[in-house]
Amino acid sequence: MKIGVYGGTFDPPHLGHMAAARGAAERLGLDKLLLIPAGLPPHKALSGCSAPAEDRLRMTGIMADRLGLSIPVQVLSLETGREGKSYTSDTLRHVTAMYPEDELWLLMGTDMFLSFHRWHEPEVIAALAGLCVFGREAGDGPERFAAQRERLERDCNARVQVVNLPDLVEVSSTQVREALSQGGGRQWLDESVWGYILGHRLYGTQADLKHLTLEELRADSAAMVRAKRIPHIRGTEETAAHLARLWGADELLARQAAILHDCTKYFDLQQQLSTCEKYGILLDETEKTTLPLLHAKSASGIARTVFGMPEAVCQAICWHTTGRADMTLLEKILYIADYAEPNRRYAWAEELRQLIETDLDAAVLRGLEITIEHTAATGGKLHPRTVEARDWLLAHRKEA
Ligand code: ATP
Repeated sequence: MKIGVYGGTFDPPHLGHMAAARGAAERLGLDKLLLIPAGLPPHKALSGCSAPAEDRLRMTGIMADRLGLSIPVQVLSLETGREGKSYTSDTLRHVTAMYPEDELWLLMGTDMFLSFHRWHEPEVIAALAGLCVFGREAGDGPERFAAQRERLERDCNARVQVVNLPDLVEVSSTQVREALSQGGGRQWLDESVWGYILGHRLYGTQADLKHLTLEELRADSAAMVRAKRIPHIRGTEETAAHLARLWGADELLARQAAILHDCTKYFDLQQQLSTCEKYGILLDETEKTTLPLLHAKSASGIARTVFGMPEAVCQAICWHTTGRADMTLLEKILYIADYAEPNRRYAWAEELRQLIETDLDAAVLRGLEITIEHTAATGGKLHPRTVEARDWLLAHRKEA
């Protein structure tokens, strides 16, 4: 197996890192990529506005997921967890012990490559891994690396491969940190990494979480979920906004509810329960033990307490999984937008997409029936509130 090892301070990880990781993985034909945020890099004094190692690890985790590579990408905390200075030679010894049969390639940009001979134990590094070097600026062609390449091949017996990045992004973390502290920087960051930075007020950012713009709220919520869920959240938002315009609800509230409705989807049972406790969300016995029901409750707590959302939004999020008797218009809109958004590929989704245009209550009723049938078919636990919601609509809804 060919394994890429990409280390850096990742303070924060930016689009340049992502382009480099993607380009190197493709050009080297990697089978696996390891991302290793540095602890205390010997060659770089961490500046005053650096992020704590824990945050850099999490942001690197977000980057790993957002790379969208078909090979496994893993973040290792080898260096951030180590006391004192972290040397690449020690890290590579560790990685070699983990993968004794595999071929390692150390990924690095121009600056790292040109100073490589001054690193601690360069010959050990060169013996344990091939060196994959890529440019950071448009002028960094193979001629920029030629002399150093010759020197390292001669003195360290290094194997060097120069990779031409197809999507070079000329930026450094230093530039990004400076821009962030002055209210900019967004254009050099993946949306979710930016959202994480705002949410944790890193690098001197001053976002007031209770007054975020929709763009900021989208990014913050995206930082909490995996990449594969984001199209569904976007689809739900656009469908909810469309329904708000069509059926006379507040479009802003519909968007806010949709953006946050699944933000805790990847919390495990323990995180769900502790979040609900922290934000004073009461749970009944069924909810306490049914993971798929809990994200609606925990997300409503976060919407209210962390993001200061209006109560109508929090309620829509709270009931979006089970529904309830006598739902408000906004609650119905989020409930059915979640089912009918364009990324839903189930056979019944098309039926719902047609119904929402002509009869919202009929669509919600059909959604509730589908939940009841599906839960019975898969042996899941059905919350009685869903049956109450269906029965209420059956008794009260006016035929369109
Ligand atoms: P700082 O500005 O804080 O020094 P940086 O942007 O150089 O940070 P690091 O995390 O130190 O980022 O870099 C990790 C690795 O990624 C290094 O090998 C570096 O050469 C490479 N790299 C950084 N930015 C780019 C970029 N824009 N394009 C290609 N490679 C990059």
